[in-house]
Amino acid sequence: MLTTQTPATCHHLFAHPATDADHDALTDDLAYFRSIGDGAGILIAVARLTGAAACRSQLTGAAR
Ligand SMILES: [Zn+2]
Repeated sequence: MLTTQTPATCHHLFAHPATDADHDALTDDLAYFRSIGDGAGILIAVARLTGAAACRSQLTGAAR
């Protein structure tokens, strides 16, 4: 779990989620973008989710 500490900040162009809550919110956003056919939104959400686990483990030292 990453939620008990102040999250580190991701400095990638499309920032990865730094907490479990951020990750869950972004996953919900992706579902919404898909439901309305927002291609740009889908692309950005996928970019933010792609590699997120590796980035988060580097930020926090935790594995997900
Ligand atoms: Zn990142």
